[in-house]
Order: sequence, then C-alpha cells, then structure tokens
Amino acid sequence: MASRKDDILLIGLGRFGRALALTMTELGHDVLAIDASAKACQAMSGDLAHVVQADATDPEALRQVGADQFRSAVVAIGNDIQASIMATFALVDFGVPRIWAKAITSQHGAILQRVGAHRVVFPERDMGVRVAHTMIGRTIDYVELDDEFVLIETTVPREVAGKSIADAGVRSTYEVSILCVKRPGGKFTYATQETILNLGDLVVLFGETRKAEAFAALT
Ligand code: ATP
Repeated sequence: MASRKDDILLIGLGRFGRALALTMTELGHDVLAIDASAKACQAMSGDLAHVVQADATDPEALRQVGADQFRSAVVAIGNDIQASIMATFALVDFGVPRIWAKAITSQHGAILQRVGAHRVVFPERDMGVRVAHTMIGRTIDYVELDDEFVLIETTVPREVAGKSIADAGVRSTYEVSILCVKRPGGKFTYATQETILNLGDLVVLFGETRKAEAFAALT
C-alpha cells in the first residue's frame, strides 16, 4: 500500500467527524472515513472520496480497510463511549503514532488518555467556553491553547490607547504579549514594542489565562 503519511483516518461521521473530514479534504489530505451506519456513510459518499461502512470496535474489520497503515487518526465517536474506547484501543494496538479522540465528558476523556489516545478534544465543552468568553466584554475570539495559556482577539482598552506596546507596559505590567495589531479597515500586522495601540484597533494577545483575561477585561 502507498504511504499513508499525510492521510487521515476518521472514525465516526457525526457532525464533528463530518466537519473534520470535509476540512481535512479541503486542506488537501486524503481522508478515509469509517462509520458503522450505512445512512451516515451514504450521506457523505458524494463529498468524500473514501467512505467505508465498518464497525470500528472490530480490529479485524479495521485492519481489512487498512486502518493500521495510517500515521494519523481521529476517533470521532462520542455517545457510544464503549465504541469510542474500543476503536481508540484498536488504533493504539496497531501502533498508529498520532491518535486524536473526541470525548463528551471528562471521565470519558481520562479513559481515552489512559487507553493511549495522544490528544483528547472536548468539542462541546471547548465551544461553550469560547462562546462564553466572546459574549462578554470586548473579547472577539478566545482560544484555549492548553490549561494555562490562551490566545485572545480583543480591542485596545482605553487604559493603554495612544501608547506604544512598551510604554503601555503590556509585557512588564500586564505580563501578556501582543502578537499582532489590526487598524480599522486594515490587515493584521506583527506587533513590535514600538507599535502604537489606538482605540478601535484589534489586537491578538497571548498569555497565561488569568493575565490575558485581565488585560481583555480592562476598560
Ligand atoms: P456529533 O456530536 O459529532 O454529531 P454524536 O455524539 O451526536 O456526534 P456519536 O454517537 O458520537 O454522535 O456518533 C458519531 C458517529 O459515529 C455516528 O455516525 C455513528 O454511526 C458512528 N459510530 C458509532 N459507533 C460506531 C462504531 N462502532 N464504528 C463506527 N462508527 C460508529
């Protein structure tokens, strides 16, 4: 079989799995999607080049479709926790080097990690956090990078407006980094210590969650 280096194995064609498969395809990756449901497979067969109906809890069925040849796999089964764990375990057993798995609860996530998933994502929980942050204050977008760090897109607070990043004490006082700035009607450009922060500008800042949130909450 040809090298599967850049190809993605996707198990589960729910809303999350479908969005992932379509985006991966748009990004130029070959996706092999597996779902136990004939209906779910049929619904995606026009949009995805490789869709196979198979039970991902059955290691032999997975091996038959070449799942053991992939270097990257995503297990996107949520509600059937047992199936999610068994499919993840089969991929771990095959030695797939990069396995991401979707979890719906923290216990589910902890088990997937124990079983050997390399990264566990919580789409519903993470989107809830993101929406809450973007609904409040000046935050436009909010991305949790891990438990301690975030990226926040926000507007320039009045408190630092008219000052350069250095003079505003963005690093020294607020202990965050402004990575880029967008003037009204312009594009994002990389920020330097000399970049002037004006009211109405958008900034993307990076920092420890508590500190970045405190900066974004300035008036
Ligand atoms: P989403 O929120 O992404 O829509 P969901 O949580 O509502 O997903 P799930 O129960 O996670 O739905 O199922 C996602 C997909 O996984 C479904 O299309 C389902 O048929 C498929 N699936 C469930 N069990 C298996 C299995 N053992 N093998 C292969 N696919 C499976």
